[in-house]
Amino acid sequence: MYNIEHIRNDFPILSRQVYGRPLVYLDNGATTQKPRCVVEAMVGEYYNVNANVHRGVHFLSQQATDLHEQGRETVRHFINARSTAEVLFTRGTTESINLLAFCFGEAFIGEGDEIVVSAMEHHSNIVPWQMVCERKGARLRVVPMTDGGELLLEDYGRLLNDRTKIVCCTHVSNVLGTVNPVKEIVRMAHDRGIPVLIDGAQSTPHFAVDMQDLDCDFFAFSGHKIYGPTGIGVLYGKEAWLEKLPPYQGGGEMIKKVTFEHTTYNELPYKFEAGTPDYVAVHGLAVALDYVSALGMENIYAHEQELTRYAALQMGEIEGMKIYGPHHDAVISFQVGNIHHLDMGTLLDRLGIAVRTGHHCAEPLMHRLGIEGTVRASFALYNTKEEVDALVDGIKRVMRMF
Ligand code: PLP
Repeated sequence: MYNIEHIRNDFPILSRQVYGRPLVYLDNGATTQKPRCVVEAMVGEYYNVNANVHRGVHFLSQQATDLHEQGRETVRHFINARSTAEVLFTRGTTESINLLAFCFGEAFIGEGDEIVVSAMEHHSNIVPWQMVCERKGARLRVVPMTDGGELLLEDYGRLLNDRTKIVCCTHVSNVLGTVNPVKEIVRMAHDRGIPVLIDGAQSTPHFAVDMQDLDCDFFAFSGHKIYGPTGIGVLYGKEAWLEKLPPYQGGGEMIKKVTFEHTTYNELPYKFEAGTPDYVAVHGLAVALDYVSALGMENIYAHEQELTRYAALQMGEIEGMKIYGPHHDAVISFQVGNIHHLDMGTLLDRLGIAVRTGHHCAEPLMHRLGIEGTVRASFALYNTKEEVDALVDGIKRVMRMF
């Protein structure tokens, strides 16, 4: 049963006030709030289990290691990877992509090669690849999109050639809410033997993802956007690819044998996990994934879809309202008349409504749309129609002030 009142009670922060008004938190695309069970699991681990993982023979270390590796299995199951060897822990989507860009770049990218990204990428799926291009003398190619915010697949097909070494594309746009046809994108790249990275930062919180079904070669997401702690994320990679990549950072955990003359590396996934991992955050992430799984990703999706449709309908009736993108997912980016997005965001904040304003770490997309920024409302499993009403009333109130 999807009981929104019960669900909201799991998130203590949702009952707080800001400026003497009930908090309406609509900045979930940036980060989500944490249910009690996640925070309590992490506190419980620090109070009762804490010890460094993988290295100790003592009881606590083994218990902490078990929790850590169970966490990896929880992630594997959640994304339906074939093996836990394919699940690497990182600090988040950004670090996952930087890891891949560095390692893949070292092994497979050279002078004159091409890397394909899309017009609607977050900076974290552009800049690491630009850095590889600079280092290796390669070139970034961009899949264009329509004015409505959909990728142009025919143009994408024409971009692929013998020099294309990897395709990097977001599953869901953090600005437009566009759900990209990633299976088709993967299929078209695979027809030419080109691997694909999917940025899943904005898809994993909203609907079920399945690595074997998507068939992508790499997939990145962040724990904090799916009700888990900050500082933890995942890079999924097909085993065959990960085996071929050199390590990222050197240090403890990632080695098999070290001498001053020569070092051999550990097996997967540890080859890519140098140093003490954030095992407490891994445990927190696993509890968060169990939490959303218990609610049912299909129920979360249905709830958020209904909210997004309801919001789009209400907002669409406001005079001067411009909504960007097809808002297929739980995101609505908008501008009203010539009210600056920063003014709108600041005044909504005074009404207790938290939204995000600006370029949303997607400046090239803003250039494509010919704007400086937008106001973005993004929904989560705990948002309500009453909160959408508060947003709509808030926007109208701000308009009256101008
Ligand atoms: N990719 C997308 C589509 C995002 O929306 C975000 C964060 O907003 C990121 C990547 C970066 O995630 P993180 O800051 O957790 O590394």
